Amino acid sequence: MSISVNEIRKDFPLLENQKVIYMDTAATSQKPACVLEAEREFYEKYNANPLRGLYELGEAATEKYEEARETVRGFLNARETAEIVFVRNATEGLNLVAYSLGSLVLKPGDEILVSIMEHHSNLLPWQQAAARTGAVVKYLECTEDGKYTEEAFKEALSDRTKIVAMTQVSNVLGCKNNIKRFAQLAHEAGAYFVADGAQSVPHMAVDVQDLDVDFLAFSGHKMYAPMGIGVLYARRELLEQMPPFLCGGEMIDSVSRTGAVWAEVPHKFEAGTVNGAGAYALAEAIRYVQKIGFDFIEEREAKLTKLLMDGMKEIPAVHILGSQKAEDHHGIVTFKLDGVHPHDVASVLDADHIAVRAGHHCAQPLLQHLKVLSTTRVSLGVYNTEEEIQAFLTSLAGIRRQMG
Ligand code: PLP
Repeated sequence: MSISVNEIRKDFPLLENQKVIYMDTAATSQKPACVLEAEREFYEKYNANPLRGLYELGEAATEKYEEARETVRGFLNARETAEIVFVRNATEGLNLVAYSLGSLVLKPGDEILVSIMEHHSNLLPWQQAAARTGAVVKYLECTEDGKYTEEAFKEALSDRTKIVAMTQVSNVLGCKNNIKRFAQLAHEAGAYFVADGAQSVPHMAVDVQDLDVDFLAFSGHKMYAPMGIGVLYARRELLEQMPPFLCGGEMIDSVSRTGAVWAEVPHKFEAGTVNGAGAYALAEAIRYVQKIGFDFIEEREAKLTKLLMDGMKEIPAVHILGSQKAEDHHGIVTFKLDGVHPHDVASVLDADHIAVRAGHHCAQPLLQHLKVLSTTRVSLGVYNTEEEIQAFLTSLAGIRRQMG
């Protein structure tokens, strides 16, 4: 299928209607009209509490919700829909695993191996799990260009390692970790592997059976879907053994004064009223991404990343974090500009209607490891254009002059 970026841009009302060069997709993506329409359609045609109402409308709501689960299953190539848990976002999915798997498997002195480049969402839940169970968090340190060698990984594993937590793509360095290989090594050492797919799932084909990870979480809103809907993939046999995370309506089979029989998975992990419209719109976002295709998405993002990095390297005083090769960046480029605070960089860019992120990017241990306090991050989506990259480079090149 031949598709052009100009056509794609027309799908995004905000980009069409507002004067903004949006380069903060790693924080949240813009939403295409079909997704916005889907969310509305759910409320207009199927609105009842999914999984509860036994009347026709309630059944339609349940059906649409479960159809969305099947769409996600196919998208991630999970074995069955029981392995797809709808959550609010990646953060909730990772907290669920840390709490429930942590309660199931961690004992005092056990080790949780966490990669140093994790977003706080895949780091703080493990610190908390360790505090609850007496386990310890060990950090796997990356090289300056964001790499983990197999040797370092094997060395960090021990016979006390029960869980390994690692992102597939770093939200700061943009690098992609070979989680398939690391999951294999973790399994050989008898540990479970928890993958954070927040920055990978929107940008590349992710097949959970091929990767053979035990858990993988992602957020819909970074993949053209609305905020408030996310996914946790988990192996069924683990979900069945794990205690529930949140308790309340919908996640039980029966309740007595002294306890409850939990519902079958995945419902055991979906307490309370679910986000039916969000799931329905997420399914539409998945179809949208599939229609464009990951071949196109990856090719575009790689081309733009190269253009961006080649241009940035020409600008004096710009330092790109991590690898200096564009192919290692997957649409995410974080940098420092000598003598200018990242917040000022972002403000000057904003004056030119360019939206980027400045700060620690919720990855403070990584920045401490790299000995930087704060940085500016550009992150791209399928809608960005060559002209936008050029405008960014022109604006960036003028910042030091403007700051005196
Ligand atoms: N993991 C990574 C790598 C991220 O970049 C983010 C968000 O930026 C998250 C997890 C958390 O995502 P959310 O805030 O949608 O839960």
